[in-house]
Amino acid sequence: MRYCIAANWKMHLYPAEAEALFLALRDAWQEAPLSNLPGIIFPPVLYLQRLSDLRQGSPLQIGAQNGYPGEFGAYTGEVSMAQLAAVGTQWVLVGHSERRQYFGEGEAFLREKILSAQQRGLSVLYCVGETQAQRSAGQTFSVLTSQLEGVLRDTPIAWSRFALAYEPVWAIGTGLNATATQAQEAHAFLRAQLRTYGAPADTIPILYGGSLKPENAAELFAQPEVDGGLVGGASLKTESFLAIAKALLQKLPVS
Ligand code: PEP
Repeated sequence: MRYCIAANWKMHLYPAEAEALFLALRDAWQEAPLSNLPGIIFPPVLYLQRLSDLRQGSPLQIGAQNGYPGEFGAYTGEVSMAQLAAVGTQWVLVGHSERRQYFGEGEAFLREKILSAQQRGLSVLYCVGETQAQRSAGQTFSVLTSQLEGVLRDTPIAWSRFALAYEPVWAIGTGLNATATQAQEAHAFLRAQLRTYGAPADTIPILYGGSLKPENAAELFAQPEVDGGLVGGASLKTESFLAIAKALLQKLPVS
């Protein structure tokens, strides 16, 4: 799988809203060409079980926005990777900038999460990206390098269950997206970095995230190194998420 579209619902939606949105997406994914496009929905953890039941037979996959390494333990408030897998979760987001920024998660802990998730059979979507201050200081590539190095060095990664999201922090939820040139440059850099860790980089999805919307999706997806998107705000409405997903169809081989 190289191309893929993902929805990060963050801490949004009441149960009935989440179910209605998921059912609308499930219907849309029922038919070609959308049914040929890998799609992943990351709902609040509370809804994973229900959406996992509803997805039976659908090509849409379900992911958790977070997970704690391990199986069981005295970690009040946490949900383990093993528990996520047990309710039918297929993916987990690791390293989202909101987790790094608000919950102080650093690379050593993120590496543990990746290892634990993969040991339980989950696929990992690992997020990286620089802040505005880091970009202004010319540190974008060194930040991306260390965000990869901190989790990949000497780590036995199952590459067939690993994807990356390039999410410049200054673009998340701000309405300011990276330009197509900035995205292409960062994605090409990340793919070259993945090769240095022995990854089959041409098969690994590198998604762009940060204020993706129907108006900018086609231009960003037209970049050869941009393999899809991780969509926050615009994934909360059926029409806007579907419009973004459809913009990615241009990348699928014609069957
Ligand atoms: C995100 O949360 O990963 C994200 C990219 O959000 P938004 O699309 O709202 O910028």
